[in-house]
Amino acid sequence: MRFALAVWLGRVAGWVSRLTGRGGSSLPGLVARRIDPQVFIRLSSHLPQGVILLTGTNGKTTTAAVASHLLRASGLKVIHNRTGANLILGLTATLLQASRFRLMPQGDLALLETDEATMPKASQESRPRAIVVTNFFRDQLDRYGELSTTVNFVRRGIESLADQGWLILNADDPQVAYLGENHPRVFYYGADLSAYASSPGGYDVADARFCPRCASPLHYRRQYYAHIGDYECPQCHFRRPVPDLLLVDWQGGASYPLRIDFRGEQFAVPNRLPGLYNAYNVMAAISLALLYDVTLAEISEGLEEFRPAFGRMEAVSIQDRLVWMALVKNPVGFNQVLETIQQDPHPDKNMLLIINDHYADGQDVSWLWDVDFETWLKSHPAGKFWASGIRAQDMALRLQYAGVDPDSITVIEKPSDALDDLLTKTAVGQVTYITPTYTALLEVRQYLTAKGYTKHFREG
Ligand SMILES: [Zn+2]
Repeated sequence: MRFALAVWLGRVAGWVSRLTGRGGSSLPGLVARRIDPQVFIRLSSHLPQGVILLTGTNGKTTTAAVASHLLRASGLKVIHNRTGANLILGLTATLLQASRFRLMPQGDLALLETDEATMPKASQESRPRAIVVTNFFRDQLDRYGELSTTVNFVRRGIESLADQGWLILNADDPQVAYLGENHPRVFYYGADLSAYASSPGGYDVADARFCPRCASPLHYRRQYYAHIGDYECPQCHFRRPVPDLLLVDWQGGASYPLRIDFRGEQFAVPNRLPGLYNAYNVMAAISLALLYDVTLAEISEGLEEFRPAFGRMEAVSIQDRLVWMALVKNPVGFNQVLETIQQDPHPDKNMLLIINDHYADGQDVSWLWDVDFETWLKSHPAGKFWASGIRAQDMALRLQYAGVDPDSITVIEKPSDALDDLLTKTAVGQVTYITPTYTALLEVRQYLTAKGYTKHFREG
């Protein structure tokens, strides 16, 4: 009775918050959990194929989008949380929303993108059938402190995995791979790219380049970006586990297929996402699909049809100018976006960098100093810069320190004004990259929608 009331009032709260335009994704979860603290446990237990939790610093949203697409392509009914609703209240609201007053979620399984700090609780309550971990980078230090704290959240989450549950882990991230040590059911994915030379980054992000078992510096046979690669500890011989799914060829662009080795058998799949980091996201998604018995043919077909979500590096044409947008939230992610921009052969590229410091963006913007603009600028061709958002001045200062001529930087705090200014000062046919933080992305999206430019974007 209490459970029924919780589901019912939770859903009413969802309506009310949507009607009043607050769009809050946490209110329904809050209301339902107040009435019945067991509501998430009960809802999860009604899913015939259970719950999958997907976590990690970068790539959660993209991986979840690709994975849910592939699972659906095989005929499964997948419940999937929307971007940003990845704390316990958001996860609860996702299952409530899928319940439609029938007191049980209408779907075969729930694929839930989960914030690292929420992992212990989410896992304890849902007893997931699978946990996917993408990578660990320093992210929003003001929220969780040290990287080891984040890793421990996820480790505690793994303790509540269902009895026959699987871990899907990125073998090429030492901290992630170590989570699988001594676990009976681990599916590893990774890359062996002999031809791929690591970007000339040299950026010093003090992430995990040390052995997670004995803390000695790791030796890398190949290092693709940051601490992602093929490593071994010279002290205790902890090494990159042999991946079950291996990326063996990647050409860099968004239209080249990925060549993959699955336990000795090679195949190619279509790929529409730029950047090696996205190839890793696709690998994680394929791993999950394989675990759920999706066939290689269904995977290939699903990837052919997949279109990236709004703000995840997709282009739109605005007044005959090609505009790309990519969310940025930490140094490693930003460096990857810069590398992708570098690969674009256009002769001149304009940049609109929008930095906000709301809670969802991370309130400490000092991470901008860890982004390697210096190396990137060496090979950056002509183009103008716009710095925008609440922290527009910080962004402009960072660019100046990196060597950008102050005269080529325009500072306009309001993103919509900056975008208008950009459109009047760039020529038809030119390409512009927009790199917003999370709340800035929402602002830009709202503005473009109001102007009628976002018809071509898919809902994120
Ligand atoms: Zn070691």
